[in-house]
Amino acid sequence: MKYEAVIGLEVHAELSTKSKIYCSCSTGFGAPINSHTCPVCTGMPGALPVLNREVVHYAAKMGKATGCAVNSLCKSDRKNYFYPDLPKAYQISQFDVPICENGEVYFYVDGEKKCCRLERIHFEEDAGKLLHDEIDGTIVDFNRCGVPLIEMVTRPDLRSSAEAKEFLEMIKTTLSYLNICDCKMEEGSIRCDINVSIRPEGETELGTRVEMKNVNTFSGAVRAIDYEIARQIEVVENGGEIQQETRRWDDVKLKNTVMRTKEDAQDYRYFPDPDLIAVEIDEPWMRKIESEIPELPIARYERYLNEYGMTAMEARQISDSFAKAELLDQASKSGKIKPKAAANWILSDISKYLNDKGIELTDTKLTAQKLVDLICLIEAGTISGAAGKKVLPAMFETDETVEAIVERMGLKQVSDESAILTIVQGVIANNSKAVEDFKAGKNVTGFLVGQCMKASKGQGNPQIINKLLAQELGKL
Ligand code: ADP
Ligand code: MG
Ligand code: ZN
Repeated sequence: MKYEAVIGLEVHAELSTKSKIYCSCSTGFGAPINSHTCPVCTGMPGALPVLNREVVHYAAKMGKATGCAVNSLCKSDRKNYFYPDLPKAYQISQFDVPICENGEVYFYVDGEKKCCRLERIHFEEDAGKLLHDEIDGTIVDFNRCGVPLIEMVTRPDLRSSAEAKEFLEMIKTTLSYLNICDCKMEEGSIRCDINVSIRPEGETELGTRVEMKNVNTFSGAVRAIDYEIARQIEVVENGGEIQQETRRWDDVKLKNTVMRTKEDAQDYRYFPDPDLIAVEIDEPWMRKIESEIPELPIARYERYLNEYGMTAMEARQISDSFAKAELLDQASKSGKIKPKAAANWILSDISKYLNDKGIELTDTKLTAQKLVDLICLIEAGTISGAAGKKVLPAMFETDETVEAIVERMGLKQVSDESAILTIVQGVIANNSKAVEDFKAGKNVTGFLVGQCMKASKGQGNPQIINKLLAQELGKL
C-alpha cells in the first residue's frame, strides 16, 4: 500500500524586543545565570505583569505578513502546568482569542508553488532553562523566563519533510525581513514541534497524529519527519495501530522515544489572566503596522525570476536576504544599470567579501548608490572590470565615493587615444622579434597587447589598445 504523510507544525520564534514580555528585564542572550531577572519574571507572589507593547506590534506584523486576520481585541490566558523552568506554575499565553488567525504561507518546493495555512499566531512568554550539571545537580536559569515568543500553528497541510523544510525556511526569511526575530538557530531563536500522521493514498480523513518535541534545527526537522513517517508505516504494515502520543526526537541517536501517551495528556486548565487587561489594536496602530511590511521574500523571488531574468538559484539567494534584496532593488531603481549587472556583483564579489569576513551587508558602508557608480564606471570604460574588484573593499570600509577611491588608487583606465597610440608605437619599436613573427604570419597580438597593458601600468583601455595595435600593425 502507498501512504501519504500529513504534517502540521507549531513553530516558536523568540521576538527580538529589547525587554521581556511582562517586565523590563533584558532579553539579551548569554548573560550570567539569573542576571536578567526580577520579581515578575521569577514569579514572586504579588508581582504584576505589564504587557510590552512592542510584542503586540511584532506579533501583529507577522500576522499581516502571512495574510492572517489580526484581531483588534485579544486577551491573555494562563496555561497551568508545574515544571521547575517556570516558577509561576503557569505560562501566560493566549487561548481562545489569539492575536492572529487564518493565514497563508506560500513557498516553493522544486519549482512548484505550495501553500500552508496558518491556524493562528499567538504571543506568550518563554520558560527558563534547566542546566544539568554532574557536580551541582540541576541549575535553573531564569534569564529566558519571560522572553517573548510568538507561536505559529499550521493546519495539517504539509505532505513531506521537503515541504516542511521550505515552509520553515520561508517563516525564517519572513521573520528576518520584518526584523522581529534574530533567527539565530544555534541560540534557539526558532524551535518547532512537529505533528505527523499517515494515511493510505487517496484517503481524505486524517490519521492519528504523533507529536514530536525537541527539534532545534531545520535539518533536524527533516530527519525527525522522515524517521517518524517510516516508523508509522512500519507499525501499520505490521498490523499495528498508531497511538496518539508525544515523542521526543533525539538528533544524535536519530530516533524518537515516547514521552507521554494520550492517557497522561496534560489538562492545562486555561483561564483568562486576571492581572492583564484585553489588548486593543486601534485603527491608526493597525495602519502603522501595515505600513511597516516590506515587499515580502516570495514576491521578490518571483519578480527576480520573471522580470530580472535571474535563475531560480540566483533569485533565491538574493531574496533570502532582506539586505541583499534591498541593495538590488534600490540599485535597479536608479534606472542607470541593468538589474542583472547588480545581481552579478551581489552574488559573486559582494557575497564573497561578506562570507570571508563573516559579516552582514548592514555591517558595512556599501550603498546602492556606490554599487550603481561602480557598474557605471566599468560600463563607461573608465575603469576595467578587474580594477572594479580592487575598488570593492574600500567601498565596504570607507565613506569615500567610488570616483574618489578610483582616483586615490590610480585605477582610472587610460582611454585617451593619442596617449595609447604612443604606447602602442613604443611597444612595436621595442619588440622587433615579435614584429618579425607577425610579418611571418604568426599570431602575436596577445603578446603585444600584454606588453601595451604592462607599459600602461595596467591602466590602458584594452579595447582601444586592441584597435590601435591592429591599425599600426596593418601599416607594416
Ligand atoms: P494541540 O493543541 O493538542 O497541540 P492541535 O489540534 O492544535 O493540537 O494541533 C496541533 C498541530 O497538529 C497543528 O499544527 C495541526 O495542523 C497538527 N495536526 C492536527 N491533526 C493532525 C493530523 N492528523 N496529522 C498531522 N498533523 C495534525
Ligand atoms: Mg501542541
Ligand atoms: Zn524580569
